[in-house]
This record gives sequence, structure tokens and C-alpha cells, in this order.
Amino acid sequence: MSRSAHPAGPRYADVLPEGHYSPPPADLNALDPKVWARTVTRDEDGVVTVGGIAVTELAERFGTPAYVLDEADFRARARAWRTAFGNDADVFYAGKAFLSRAVVRWLDEEGLNLDVCSGTELATALSAGMPAERIAFHGNNKSETEIHRAVEAGVGRIVLDSFQEIVRVAHIAQSLGKRQKAQIRITVGVEAHTHEFIATAHEDQKFGIPLAGGQAAEAVRRALQLDGIELIGIHSHIGSQIFDMSGFEVAAHRVVRLLKEIRDEHGIELPEIDLGGGLGIAYTSDDDPREPHEIAKALNEIVTRECEAARLRTPRISVEPGRAVVGPTAFTLYEVGTIKPLEGLRTYVSVDGGMSDNIRTALYDAEYSVALVSRASDAAPMLVRVVGKHCESGDIVVKDAFLPADLAPGDLIAVPATGAYCRSMASNYNHALRPPVVAVADGEARVIVRRETEEDLLRLDVG
Ligand SMILES: *Cc1c(COP(=O)(O)O)cnc(C)c1O
Repeated sequence: MSRSAHPAGPRYADVLPEGHYSPPPADLNALDPKVWARTVTRDEDGVVTVGGIAVTELAERFGTPAYVLDEADFRARARAWRTAFGNDADVFYAGKAFLSRAVVRWLDEEGLNLDVCSGTELATALSAGMPAERIAFHGNNKSETEIHRAVEAGVGRIVLDSFQEIVRVAHIAQSLGKRQKAQIRITVGVEAHTHEFIATAHEDQKFGIPLAGGQAAEAVRRALQLDGIELIGIHSHIGSQIFDMSGFEVAAHRVVRLLKEIRDEHGIELPEIDLGGGLGIAYTSDDDPREPHEIAKALNEIVTRECEAARLRTPRISVEPGRAVVGPTAFTLYEVGTIKPLEGLRTYVSVDGGMSDNIRTALYDAEYSVALVSRASDAAPMLVRVVGKHCESGDIVVKDAFLPADLAPGDLIAVPATGAYCRSMASNYNHALRPPVVAVADGEARVIVRRETEEDLLRLDVG
């Protein structure tokens, strides 16, 4: 199809209420290093490369859509977290963001620990050789089978999430002749998302045991009475995609206050606190995430100060970044199928994937950026909405972005910062075959999670 086969889309200035959207970037060919994996560049021919490989070659070899993961970037980010927190703290990668055996091996090699929240995530971690003592097991409704498996494997900690679970874990551990290390997850009355946090009097959510009304203190009392549990600390996770440290400040203050109450009541100082994950990344150029060393410094200062004020020994801190490690390291590569300019509105660009490989836009109204990657273009910016191929009008990948007006079917476009919560939340809606994850490093590409096949799907359908 020739590039002039469709009318150019409306110019943003014609259709957008002033000040409502960011204007188009000065150079549509530029790749903002904030949102793209570190080895991503555009070569002299205008083709984008990652890990030294052109996306056109990746599309040819592995097909589209595909998640392309920059291994060097993943390792560098994992290492940055590890180094920032040092030997007196632990970094647990939140496996739910994206878990595969290759990732587990990289984490192991880079010295990170791992959070899992299901028996199958645990099985994945163990099968890739992650030492059980470096695994933490999360979840608000772990089954007895899952708990049994975790205790038997010897996981480093189970994060207790309810009164029933305290008893369940203690019972299972005892039946196995073990004493399971555990933390109690509490809700501190703080919820943080992106640029704001809300401090509430009580928590209206399924996770954790509320500090309010003395419930968390009661959970501690019960756990301390049970032989099957060795209570090692308190856990708090306040939200996701957080840029502002003040939510952590309030959370740390309240967690330390509980530690002090525990010391006063029971005469023990719990040795650990976990402040959870949720650190934000840049999905668009408007986001300004903090570096791991800044976050480590801020959290260490907050906890040390709070503990000094409470006259407590500073506990060992742990954090659980998921998105902030893997999110920026991958992009989704799509092929453009159809282009539909809607006069006076915007241009709909349909790609060969959609909400089955990235549910975040539909689910959370998430923002993403997008770029033409198979070639450079000097054409004027065109306001687009990138949509998928699913039977659902909410099937949107990128709500508002600019692509060159000469965009044509067959072009490759890529959505950056899709390393977290995209493959891990992918679905088979419309019997979509979930895309592969292709890891690239030093001019080599390899599939670490293969594309699903029709056979995979039909095998489940036992008819
Ligand atoms: C989801 C989650 C994380 C990771 O969150 P990110 O936003 O990916 O950093 C960490 N800890 C717990 C308990 C979680 O539920």
C-alpha cells in the first residue's frame, strides 16, 4: 500500500481542547531514554535496534506481536537496586510483574531475592534454581497445598495476610516438624498511587491486617504464641507506580510505632521490616521516576529516624520492586494493520495484538507512549489512538500519542515500558495466542518464553 493511500489524520491543533494534551514531541524519531530500554537506539537507516539487533530482524525471526526484553538493562537495573540497598538490606523482585526461568536466573546471579504469590510462581522459581531461603511467599488466600509446598521447600518467609492464615501456616509447619519464618502484612491506612497518597483512618481492601482497631497488634500476639511460626517482622505495601516518598514516610512511621508497641508489650524487637514495592517508572516522557540509590537513601533515612525516635534498634529493611526492575526493560513490537482517520477526532491505528497482551490501559487507564520503529519519518505528527484487534471497544493500547502522518500498514511500531504486568497479565481473549518474550543481549536474541500455538490452546480444549 502506498503511503498516500489514506488521508492524513487530523492535526492535533484542530481537534484538541487547548492544554488538554501534551503537544507532539519536537522530533518523532527521537527515543526518550527515560521510557526506552537502555540499549535501544535508532541506526543510520532509521531502524530501531536493541541489544544490537534491528527490530525488523526481530519481527522477521520471531513474528509480531512480541515482547522484546533488553537483558543488559534488566541486569543493570537489578544490580542498581542491589547496590543501592547494600548488604544490610534485601531486595525482593516481585515476580508477579514478570516471571520466567531466565529472569529467575538473572536475579539469582545479580543477588536479588524473589517474591512469589502462587504455588506455580513458586514452582517456576524453584525450577530455575532460586534458593528457597531467598523466596518470600505472598498472597491473601494461599491454599493449604500452596502453604504446604512453600514450607516444605523451605521458603525464607511467608507473608501472613489474615488471622486464618496465621493458624494455617503454624499448623502446617508444625505438621512438617518445622518453624516457618514469617512476616505479618499490615495495612497502615496509607494508599499511594502515582503522584498522591491518601492517608485513611481504616483500610477498605482485601490485603493485609489493619493496624486500625488494634487488629495488627492482635495478629502479632497470636503469631507469637504459635510454635510453628517464627515471627521475624512486619510487612507493608502501600500501592503502585509511586513517585512521591511521603506515603512511605507515613507507612514507615506507623510500622515502627507497631514495632515499639510490640517491644513494650512482649519485650522483643522484631528484626525486619518490609516496605513493599510500588516504585514508579516512566511510561511517558512526563514521568520522572527516582533512581534506586535515591529511594534507598530516603527509605533508610526515614526508618533510621523513626527508630531512633522510638528508641528501637534499626531493623533490617527489605523492599520489593517489580515494575521498577523489569518495566522499562521491554517493549512490545507490533505490526500496523489498519489506519482509520476519523474526521475531527483522531486516527485509529490497529495493531496485531491489543488488550490480550497489554490489559493495563483498559484496566487502569494506564498511559503509554509509542514510536514508529521500522523506519524514520519526517512526516508531520498525527494524533493517534493505538488499538488492538479484539472484539471490545475498550481494547486500547495507547490512548493518545503522536505518530508520523505517513504511517502505513506493515510498519512496525513499538510501545515502550511494557516489561511489567503485560505478559504476566496476558490473556487468550478471542483465542489470541500469547506473544513470546524475546531476550536480546550483545547482538544475540533468544526466546525465553515462546509464543503460544494453536496446538497449545486446542490441547486444553478436551471437548
Ligand atoms: C505488587 C506488589 C509488589 C510490586 O509492586 P511494583 O509496583 O511492581 O513494584 C511488591 N510487593 C507486594 C506485596 C505486591 O503486592
